Amino acid sequence: MFLEDSEGRSSMEGDTHRSGSSHLEPAAITDTGCERDLNEDRYAAVESNSGTTWLVCDGMGGQTGGELAAQLAIDAIRRDLENLPPRPPMAALKSAVIEANRIIVLRRQNQAFAQMGTTATAVQFFGSEVAFANVGDSRVYLIRDGAIQQLTVDHTYVQELVDSGQIRPEEALSHPQAHILTRCIGAEPGLEVDLSQYWIWEVEENEPKDILLLCTDGLYSLVDEGEIASIVSNATPSKACVQLVELAKERGGYDNITLVVIPLSGQLRTEAPSGYSTEEIIRTSTAQMIMESQSFDFVGAIRFVVTLGILSTVALFLSFLAIVMMVRV
Ligand code: CA
Repeated sequence: MFLEDSEGRSSMEGDTHRSGSSHLEPAAITDTGCERDLNEDRYAAVESNSGTTWLVCDGMGGQTGGELAAQLAIDAIRRDLENLPPRPPMAALKSAVIEANRIIVLRRQNQAFAQMGTTATAVQFFGSEVAFANVGDSRVYLIRDGAIQQLTVDHTYVQELVDSGQIRPEEALSHPQAHILTRCIGAEPGLEVDLSQYWIWEVEENEPKDILLLCTDGLYSLVDEGEIASIVSNATPSKACVQLVELAKERGGYDNITLVVIPLSGQLRTEAPSGYSTEEIIRTSTAQMIMESQSFDFVGAIRFVVTLGILSTVALFLSFLAIVMMVRV
């Protein structure tokens, strides 16, 4: 649990990707795996007034229900984020996930999709703020200096057994009921969303920068956390995505596999940098939006004048033609 350590020192040292993360772009991948016919996983990146959001959904529910649920959730979350004004990231994520739940609960009234549902794990970046939302058993991991920490809590029956001390954490994944979710999007109208908030702090040149990984259970059920940490720490995000999918598939790939690797510009902490103000950033962002909406659209105006000119010329030519025809008649 190195996140609570404000010095950011982990107990695991390794040959890790220590510098230059800031120029690396996030990467994502989804793969049907080796046994399934359909890919019921989805991922997306959404740019909105409330920041940049990455999300992963793992749908379920027979026939095409799983695919539909995951896609409906992605679409609903995207719409909600894109259409509403800037808000603090946790509020924006919560509203978007609850909207996805509302849509899927409604669609489940159709008997063909009565069993469908999906997980949703999202991370949102806004200024230095990072917010997470989670429902189900897709996960967010934090990788720092070769060590890994799960930031989300699974909503599964086996997690409840672990929490109550009935089984050990290492027994959870191989438990026969490991796949049973206790919470998912679409199951019922009143949805509780796990939300958490962090801030990215700048680090010194020689300090490691954090990497976030979002993934579905198709990855972590076949590739253990140490392997994930090692691959993500030693490869670029896009190469890590490919290597992790290949590893899961070498081991059977019996589920769909999806992951997003996001290099950060610093380290996550649970407290805000001094003087940081979410409200101030929202005010600036809102003012910018208003200015942009009021600014004169030169390109649009020129396009309008040119179009008008062409139409007038065509109209004049047709009138001239009509007059000539009439004179001849
Ligand atoms: Ca899955």
